[in-house]
Amino acid sequence: MTSETQPTCNCDSKPSWIKDRIRPDEISRYMDGGADFIPDAEIHEKLKRNAVTDPGRIRAILDKSLAIETLSPDETAALLWVNDPELLGLMRQRALEVKKKVYDNRIVTFAPLYMGNRCVNNCLYCGFRRDNKDAIRRVLSTDEIRQETQILAGKIGHKRLIAVYGEHPETGVDYMVNSIRTIYSVREKVRVGWGNIRRVNVNAAPMPVDELKLLKDVGIGTYQVFQETYHKEAYAKAHPAGTLKGDYRWRLYSMHRALEAGIDDVGIGALFGLYDWRFEVMGLQYHALELEKRFNVGPHTVSFPRLEPASNAPMADKTGYEVSDDELKHIITVIRLSIPHAGMILTARENPDLRRDAIRLGLTQTDASTQIGIGAYSSADPDLQEKEKQQFILGDTRSLDEVIRELATMGYITSFCTAGYRCGRTGECIMDLLKSGAEGKFCKLNAVLTFREWLDDFASDATRAAGEPLIERELQDTRNKITPAAFDKLMEYYRRTAAGERDLYF
Ligand code: SAM
Ligand code: SF4
Repeated sequence: MTSETQPTCNCDSKPSWIKDRIRPDEISRYMDGGADFIPDAEIHEKLKRNAVTDPGRIRAILDKSLAIETLSPDETAALLWVNDPELLGLMRQRALEVKKKVYDNRIVTFAPLYMGNRCVNNCLYCGFRRDNKDAIRRVLSTDEIRQETQILAGKIGHKRLIAVYGEHPETGVDYMVNSIRTIYSVREKVRVGWGNIRRVNVNAAPMPVDELKLLKDVGIGTYQVFQETYHKEAYAKAHPAGTLKGDYRWRLYSMHRALEAGIDDVGIGALFGLYDWRFEVMGLQYHALELEKRFNVGPHTVSFPRLEPASNAPMADKTGYEVSDDELKHIITVIRLSIPHAGMILTARENPDLRRDAIRLGLTQTDASTQIGIGAYSSADPDLQEKEKQQFILGDTRSLDEVIRELATMGYITSFCTAGYRCGRTGECIMDLLKSGAEGKFCKLNAVLTFREWLDDFASDATRAAGEPLIERELQDTRNKITPAAFDKLMEYYRRTAAGERDLYF
């Protein structure tokens, strides 16, 4: 396969690909009596009804969150209106307690890998939209994917990627499977051990069940699709009718199809700024409850990107629903409390200050060393992103080493653990472990082992100096929490890791 560039999208030449993609029966079979699970009028009514609540009820709701129970829509609605500074302070404190109870002081890092910017859709906020005639279109070849992965796994030190795809016949499911296989095949010699990508998550358009089964078979981690906006009218305004993405319900049931296909780690999200932020949080909550009710599995992750400026994207700037920093912090706090077991992702779209605040509110995953230009990790051209008119502008360009150092000085251990999906701790099983707090037993140990690997293989002197006391404290903390036999096993793995063995996990 070779890489190819051309100024405009050639999607119109493949109308049959577009025509056959949406399978009506893979929407209708999940619906109840012709209705979907986002009842717009009911959500508005709940928001209105819960706008004024007494502090006693808010405190009771916070106790429920602390018991790691998913909140009801009425309870979420009540939290969305809290503006008393004292109660807000209590909510933030509880949000962090919930995060610590479920995920302790671990933060997961990853990098996005943009595979191509060809897209048949025309989302009015995205630089990849087919009507952006300024974008230089290209799709990574197998060799280029290998080169990107060599940098990410061999130089920067990532273990997790999220592979991001436009919706286009050139990046259809066969391309996805091949690209994921290529990523997993790369193994680079580094300082002590070797670098490789151990978990590829996928952010791609909604797919039919048979294609999702192929993604499951190639061994993806989480499958992410953001609904963008749960509000049907706002959705129609941003996603022109007649495009694939214009079909709200095909997208709304993406996760149902993924779960049916056996992918039991699913990630939901909303693009904040397209409609009222309180409505969107309610939409996420209804989505989480629907998945729990139907599949006994809630979302593994929730994402809450804010609309960023993008080239030739008329809806990327002024929508009238812009979300301020304070509102975003409120959103993060409420999601943490409402879906307590979910991982929460905030990306380098946001600036470092906001990302720091988000960590104190219960964030669990963040990216670093991020590049969103196609082929940008291995490109020698620092202006590639600007020249190619990429998807949007980044707010945080710090390296993985810098982010890990800062997290260590804040008392957080960066976990590169990818054991969960490889030894069956996914879906319903991981939900039970997360809710009971037992997941930490495995993850803490794996966090220590993978952090040891990273300090030895990639850390700068300054990051190593910040990381060593942290890992020492973690070992002591672990000693008090597990049986002597389990601690002995951990220390055996720890010594073997320090001697250069890699990828030992519980
Ligand atoms: N094409 C697939 C889709 O739309 O689902 C996946 C790739 S798309 C690039 C991934 C996500 O980028 C979208 O779901 C959307 O939320 C986000 N995005 C697009 N334009 C954005 C913008 N201007 N600012 C922030 N996020 C944006
Ligand atoms: Fe295409 Fe996704 Fe961008 Fe929409 S958001 S134009 S579907 S890449």
